[in-house]
Amino acid sequence: MSVIKALPDAIIDQIAAGEVVERPASALKELMENSLDAGAKTISVILTNGGTGVITVRDDGMGISKDELTISLERHTTSKIKSEIDLREIKTLGFRGEALSSIAAVSILLISSRTANQDHGWEIRSEGGKIFDIKPTMINGGTNVTINNIYYNTPARRKFLKNPSTEFGHCEGVFKTIAISNPEVSFLMMHNGKEKWNLKPNSQSERNDQILGINFRDNKLQISEKFAFGSISGEISSPNISNPRREKQYFFVNGRYIRDRVINHAIKTAYHDVLHHSRYPTYVIQLQLDLNEVDVNVHPAKTEVRFAKSRAIHDFIRKSVLKALSTPVVFDRKKQKNREDKLNFQSDLTNLNSQARLYFKQASSQDSLKPSNQNENHLNSSKILRSNRSTNDFPLGFAITQLAGTYILAQNKLGIILVDIHAAHERLTYERLKLEFQQESVKTQGLLVSAPIKVSSLELSAVEDNKITLKNLGFDFTCVFPDVILIRAVPSFLKDADVEKLFLDTVNEIIDFGSSTITTEHCNTLLSTMACHGSIRANRKMTTLEMDRLLREMESTPRANQCNHGRPTWHQISYDEIDKIFLRGR
Ligand code: ADP
Ligand code: MG
Repeated sequence: MSVIKALPDAIIDQIAAGEVVERPASALKELMENSLDAGAKTISVILTNGGTGVITVRDDGMGISKDELTISLERHTTSKIKSEIDLREIKTLGFRGEALSSIAAVSILLISSRTANQDHGWEIRSEGGKIFDIKPTMINGGTNVTINNIYYNTPARRKFLKNPSTEFGHCEGVFKTIAISNPEVSFLMMHNGKEKWNLKPNSQSERNDQILGINFRDNKLQISEKFAFGSISGEISSPNISNPRREKQYFFVNGRYIRDRVINHAIKTAYHDVLHHSRYPTYVIQLQLDLNEVDVNVHPAKTEVRFAKSRAIHDFIRKSVLKALSTPVVFDRKKQKNREDKLNFQSDLTNLNSQARLYFKQASSQDSLKPSNQNENHLNSSKILRSNRSTNDFPLGFAITQLAGTYILAQNKLGIILVDIHAAHERLTYERLKLEFQQESVKTQGLLVSAPIKVSSLELSAVEDNKITLKNLGFDFTCVFPDVILIRAVPSFLKDADVEKLFLDTVNEIIDFGSSTITTEHCNTLLSTMACHGSIRANRKMTTLEMDRLLREMESTPRANQCNHGRPTWHQISYDEIDKIFLRGR
């Protein structure tokens, strides 16, 4: 027979502590959040052995008075909320009142603190949750919390600590997350006597660069949008840079760092078009929501939230990221920097898109990239435009020649440019198809001779189930035999493609989706597959006119910096870099 007995308080405390204080880094997070809630402007973190030895957090916040010191170590004691109403509108990072007591239960804890109206500070010492003494101490103001030997009294847990460098990695992750979301606060971090971070107060954008480095600084795009019950702002990486893991992703809801599936999905699908699915973008995004639109009381570590209008928030985030990603071609800031003519160039950039569009209008017909002998007039107008305009007018400059059948070599003001012809054209075709598809006006081109295509029974049923989608994508067809489909028309942009491959690849893509409903995302995948078929193949000889047109079109097409699979479409080699090769100016 089993005997049910109440657990001793000490054990209950240790179990509860496990939830909040999973590892040294979670204790560090709680202490730093307490400092921020206390209004600190300077926070110093001192660690030994990745936090498995000592974790000290020192702040210049409002401090804790003598009486409150003892109370703060009891379970569920907090100064931050008082009633259920407060719980619905939480403005502080902490509110559960369990961090200090949980940490105290599994460590030797020392807190010294002094409020503004006290003559001197007080220090409290607790071991395994048992308060030993409280005595006067010297402290200028603010609070100093030191955790010694975390899990010293729970050997089972201590055994699961990873080596100090791994634990330090987690602590540094917490530190960076908190520093990035509080740019107006100074942060210092020391580890085993060495300074790791020293961050002075800064703008949000500069703090992002401090934490994420030069690569992010030179490749970031801005987000700033408002909507009915909130707003979003932040910086995201252009697809020029990406990471193999999710590590550099910071998303904050009302200042609180969170990890959320809805948000991850929204951002991932926004990058779907420009980044390979195994790569991750970098971002720092702040979402501000009305307090009643979000519930933060979901998880002890407070890194999960619940949205009242999850779907609307998902779509809003996705749209905002998409908008930032559709910024047309501009130069890397770092490459502009060293040129003397930097300032003139800046002003050129402001007009660049309108110029590119004008040029494109004048120099091309609706169907671009036709062989030049069908557009003699265009060749002339292009020649005139080339001679009248300097290379300064266009970011991607003018074509010089085609290299190895695969690349365009162009010259612009900063140096030379290499363009991957197939990748660039694929993006342009894809963007045009998407636009037509969104406007429900995919132009079709009848085939001179209809193309009969043999299909399997699986393919046939996919075609029958998705007739409307396929028609909207620009295909016109009838089923003539149980295993033959006759294609009468294809999207105009793809009229030169191999019709059979184009159609079958599209149908098989539909089969791969494995669901009967075709979403917008699915349609984009289909259009991307189709675009690949219509793109210029390597080794097709292009005229200078055709190459120039491609450059102009890239300048005025959103997302033209990457092909549909996220690879870059062009690369600048500046004169500075060329000078370096030849050791000039040394
Ligand atoms: P919570 O943060 O959820 O309120 P904690 O257990 O983390 O719970 O802290 C308990 C209380 O101790 C806080 O509500 C706050 O009043 C006080 N406190 C903790 N750390 C600090 C600090 N660094 N400065 C001022 N007050 C603090
Ligand atoms: Mg707290």
